[in-house]
Amino acid sequence: MKIYITADMEGVNGVVLREHVDPASREYEMARGWMVAEVNAAIEGAVAGGASEVIVNDSHNNMANLPADRLHPAARLVSGPGKPFSMMQEIDSSFAGAFFLGYHAAFGTPLAVHDHTWAYSYIEDIRINSIHIGEFGLNAGLAGHYRVPPLLVTGDRAVVNEARALVPGVAAVAVKEGRGRLCALCEPFEQSLAAIREQATASVHNLPSHKPLIFAEPLTLEVDFPKAEMAETASLLPGSERTAACTIACHPGDYPQLYRCFLALFRLAKTA
Ligand SMILES: [Zn+2]
Repeated sequence: MKIYITADMEGVNGVVLREHVDPASREYEMARGWMVAEVNAAIEGAVAGGASEVIVNDSHNNMANLPADRLHPAARLVSGPGKPFSMMQEIDSSFAGAFFLGYHAAFGTPLAVHDHTWAYSYIEDIRINSIHIGEFGLNAGLAGHYRVPPLLVTGDRAVVNEARALVPGVAAVAVKEGRGRLCALCEPFEQSLAAIREQATASVHNLPSHKPLIFAEPLTLEVDFPKAEMAETASLLPGSERTAACTIACHPGDYPQLYRCFLALFRLAKTA
């Protein structure tokens, strides 16, 4: 049984400062240690639940945060930037389920630690078939295309609420609760690691009760940018349509195309 893990950083227990997620800062070394501890707890739990193979996709920033030599030996690591499927690289129908670790809530969520969607200052909102989503929804939707259910989400209380609104049965561990954008009430580390281990095992055991997140076709993707010139540049993507000053819509043929449309729109917008 194969388990897929996408690992972000802003939702890791203890992570509150911008410096915690910035490789250029001296705070970062400590935070990537917290990140790998949570990922390893989830791998341990998955293996205890019967997983025979685990792939971990490093999904934060330059996507090379997890120290390869400290990762649980049962897992293989996808590391480094430029992956064509980014936060969901390697996902396919061979996986029995997916874990979303260290995740954070969508841009604009109140009392959410590091709330953002994809990148600070470039994306204000994403909607698929008019449903407002954050990174959890965007990524779980790609897993859903391959009929892979989200089993477990970890992060702050806000992302747990966001994930449960989309996938009511998903197992979850809230490792902290936002008191502001850069401050949180954090659970004791040992306790949150134990909870991640337990929930990982339980969710793998209860596999048949978990349902994939499937967005119905025909698909519509809408992306709101904070500035008109970003939307203007993004509208160069063939097949896209500028539906408002700061909004681009696309009608991709399937979910992998939707995901790639989103990545292309984002990268175009960044050049504006
Ligand atoms: Zn993220």
